[in-house]
Amino acid sequence: MATLRFEALKKAFQKTPIQNDYPEKKSNLFGKNVFGLETMRQYLTNDALKSVKSAIEKGTKITRSEADQIATSLKDWALSKGATHYTHWFQPLTGATAEKHDAFFDLTLDGIAIEKFEGSQLVQQEPDASSFPNGGIRNTFEARGYTAWDPTSPAFIYGTTLCIPTVFVSYTGEALDYKTPLLRALQSVDQAATGVAKYFDKNVTKVISTLGWEQEYFLVDKDLALSRPDIMLAGRTLLGHSPAKGQQLDDHYFGSIPSRALAFMRELEEESMLLGIPVKTRHNEVAPNQFELAPIFEEANLAVDHNSLLMDIMGKIASKHSFKILLHEKPFKGINGSGKHNNWSLSTDTGVNLLSPGKTPMSNLQFLTFFVNTIKAVQDNEELLRATIASAGNDHRLGANEAPPAIISVFIGQQLSKVLSNLENVSKGKLSPKEKTDLKLNVVGKIPEILLDNTDRNRTSPFAFTGNKFEFRAVGSSANCANPMTVLNTIVAKQLIDFKKEVDSLVKTKKLKKDDAIFNVIREYIKSSKKILFEGDGYSDDWEKEAKKRGLSNNRKTPEALKAKVSKKNIALFESMGVMNAVESQARYEIELEEYLMRIQIEGRVLGDIARNHVIPTAVRYQNTLIENVKGLKDIYDKDYKKHASEQMELIENISDHIANINRGVTDMVNARKKANSIKNIEQKAQSYCYDVRPLFEEIRYHCDKLELLVDDEIWSLTKYRELLFMR
Ligand code: ADP
Ligand code: MG
Repeated sequence: MATLRFEALKKAFQKTPIQNDYPEKKSNLFGKNVFGLETMRQYLTNDALKSVKSAIEKGTKITRSEADQIATSLKDWALSKGATHYTHWFQPLTGATAEKHDAFFDLTLDGIAIEKFEGSQLVQQEPDASSFPNGGIRNTFEARGYTAWDPTSPAFIYGTTLCIPTVFVSYTGEALDYKTPLLRALQSVDQAATGVAKYFDKNVTKVISTLGWEQEYFLVDKDLALSRPDIMLAGRTLLGHSPAKGQQLDDHYFGSIPSRALAFMRELEEESMLLGIPVKTRHNEVAPNQFELAPIFEEANLAVDHNSLLMDIMGKIASKHSFKILLHEKPFKGINGSGKHNNWSLSTDTGVNLLSPGKTPMSNLQFLTFFVNTIKAVQDNEELLRATIASAGNDHRLGANEAPPAIISVFIGQQLSKVLSNLENVSKGKLSPKEKTDLKLNVVGKIPEILLDNTDRNRTSPFAFTGNKFEFRAVGSSANCANPMTVLNTIVAKQLIDFKKEVDSLVKTKKLKKDDAIFNVIREYIKSSKKILFEGDGYSDDWEKEAKKRGLSNNRKTPEALKAKVSKKNIALFESMGVMNAVESQARYEIELEEYLMRIQIEGRVLGDIARNHVIPTAVRYQNTLIENVKGLKDIYDKDYKKHASEQMELIENISDHIANINRGVTDMVNARKKANSIKNIEQKAQSYCYDVRPLFEEIRYHCDKLELLVDDEIWSLTKYRELLFMR
């Protein structure tokens, strides 16, 4: 009998790469499907162009008549490129992107069909918010939400649809999406960082936060994926024995990219370039079938949109190439999972990267200021930062010896550690001219040279300084970067505000010179930010013990980790920075708990189904064959049969044991789920899923995987790891 597995394997074997040569130079394609400044210049009147630019740069409002003009031009441009529909494109808290398409079509009063798209349609839309997660906001407030245009992220055409990036808020103004708090956080870091950057350069009027993400993913043949209910429904394998060859040989990493995968990547890059996503790097990752793609960094809001858009188009293009893309953090047991490094920095409108050491001692003091403030912000908010990367998928990675641990620490490298310890000895109050010269020449002045040969790379750190940016490495591969970026920018903004207050006060009350005051405050920050700095092996048990001594949090699982989002301190932080009010913080907390437990609920159901409907019946079938065999041997050898049948009889017993264990395991799990489902309090319910339901998966899996090794390969119905993982 042909199982789905063998049919799928047959199909997968026959596939060849889609031939797609893209002769055109990538730079010619860049942004062709984006209504960016270049295109706007062609299509907009001067006034409209000015108002869009000012909205982007200064956050000013666009008037109704300008919006009408922009809408008309946008429509003309979109129609000229073959678009037929438009949509407000937004990022609800489901993690996916959402869209509702409307045609550029209307009827006049006398029934004539026209192409229509006005300012009002550009600026605001009303999707039905009732089926997006809202964590109780809807019940407490208005039952509806609306989307509103975000002019800082340009409209683009995907397929035949004009997509307009928007925020998604309730009628009472509460954010229902990822973008709204991010925009607020970016605004607050702009203000705070500009204030501090002005100490060093009066001409700075704006600071933008930059983000360069690195996206890891797995590719699995589509037919093979379709033959696995766990991959299709849970996005990861819930069982499967390790293949004889995994990633031991490290031969996939930086090896040549398989041709079917390469054809997919080419098309993905082509489409990304058209959409203005500046993809640059592609390579194999550590695990078989695992790859990475990274763009050039961009302004954080745009980079977040681009990552969300990319995750969406990846799925579509993969499907065309007969692949299924797995963005899950841990699709395969025993094989590395996937993450999404978030490279982050701050940049001024004068073109200076504030985390890049410069040519003069003064610019290096600026670097040190932002560097030390970031370290302090991370230290004071480590638990909150940990909360931003918590998810059911990422629980498999954090602390699993392949990804940074659940403990947040900062790695800065030996040389910069030395610089900081030198600065710690700066005199209190006014610095002597000699000390100052010495500092500037020998400590601060030496930074760029140090960094040039700074090959210090610590792969086990969740938050590492990498020469001219910090790299937040513990973010999950399927995550929306808005979540960590909102928090990182908020805590740095808060820190910079505090810093400026302290410096200004020293200047005023102690009559210190500005740079003396800065040295003084930095010195104190260095002294008080030591516990977060760690240069050793983040994967080691020693670090866990050491971190505990230092009083750093180690929240391994999502339900504990998320709590930081609603601590008194953090609700107040978000409120004071204008990023989220208490209702929004609480709502997000509940949504994330709900999402967490639902994912485990789905996994539990799928695992129960596979175990009972695939694994057990197959095992019974094989056992019957063995029984037939033993019966036959008995016929031939009569009383002597045991001599010939003992192995088979042992196998029969083993199989029975495993079946019994699976059955018991599934029953226990179903009961645990029922118990968890009866809990009303969402926090306790999530905990019950985490600590009562989830651990039962292991036992079920263990016995299923044992059976996989015992049962005849010819009748095993689930596609095996070795087949899923090695692309032909
Ligand atoms: P790797 O981390 O693999 O060694 P790079 O250091 O070249 O690679 O850069 C990794 C990522 O960091 C890239 O996506 C790049 O765009 C991003 N990056 C570089 N500079 C900045 C910056 N100033 N702000 C944010 N991201 C940056
Ligand atoms: Mg990196």
